[in-house]
Amino acid sequence: MEFSRLKKLCGAAAFISALFFAFSSVSSAIALDLSSVHIKKNTIVQGETLVIEVEKFSNTNNTVPMAWVGSRAVRLFPYKEKYIGFYSAPAKATPWIYRATIVAEGEKPVKIPVVIKNAHFPVTELVVTKELNNAGFTSRNIASNLAVADTPAIVAAFSNAADAPYFSDAFGFPLKNIVNVGAFGNYRKSGSTVLQHLGVDLEAEMNTPVYAINDGKVTMAKRLINYGNSIVIDHGARIFSMYLHLEKFSVPQGAVVKKGDLIGYSGNTGYSLAPHLHLSINVNGTSIDPLNFIETTQSAFQ
Ligand SMILES: [Zn+2]
Repeated sequence: MEFSRLKKLCGAAAFISALFFAFSSVSSAIALDLSSVHIKKNTIVQGETLVIEVEKFSNTNNTVPMAWVGSRAVRLFPYKEKYIGFYSAPAKATPWIYRATIVAEGEKPVKIPVVIKNAHFPVTELVVTKELNNAGFTSRNIASNLAVADTPAIVAAFSNAADAPYFSDAFGFPLKNIVNVGAFGNYRKSGSTVLQHLGVDLEAEMNTPVYAINDGKVTMAKRLINYGNSIVIDHGARIFSMYLHLEKFSVPQGAVVKKGDLIGYSGNTGYSLAPHLHLSINVNGTSIDPLNFIETTQSAFQ
């Protein structure tokens, strides 16, 4: 009994190993597996970005692999001998263990857990100075300005975006010196109005040169109500950068720019307490922590 059971088990093992070898010989030919997908840091907080890198496989029919984190699609684009994609957790993402799923035509999906933690964004006061009040800003119309004017203008600047990336190098900084004076994600509250700061405020005296953070196309250079003189650059691959409260523009709407090109000068236009540069970066439809994005994505361009 013992012996025959052992024989049966051995038979099963032989069958399984035959299957395994048959399968592994196929999978070594197609090569999308865990060892070809890299996510360096799979625990992030709300607003942060992670990089998905997929090594190019030997014998696909040249279709670009696709990726998701949870139900959000991540655009992968070819770069040298790999595909790269950026997943940015929305500021309001529910903290949870999600799954990154990478698929390629005809191949088994690769699944990797991704943890999004709560960033615990602080609540600060939404300041409306006398000067701003005299200029027509109240805590109530700051919110309605966004709804009726500024946000629709930004949405329009995001339409007809390029699928393919304009860039072929890492993202850089918009100023020569970077000092963060207004963190991403903080809530600003005044009475019943609560706004979340979906960008970063960078120290910049009046008329400090502002540079494009990467190659792209200027899809908006326009005066908005809260945001003042604002530039939107489409970098392709559903990545946009926004530069707000500028004093003046150095490029017109429609201009194609290179990384490091002068695009304008910092200022104090719109709802702004003092001269500074507000930088926002939007990835796949969500505004994310810009400095974290620039720093985290550098390693992908090697
Ligand atoms: Zn700001």
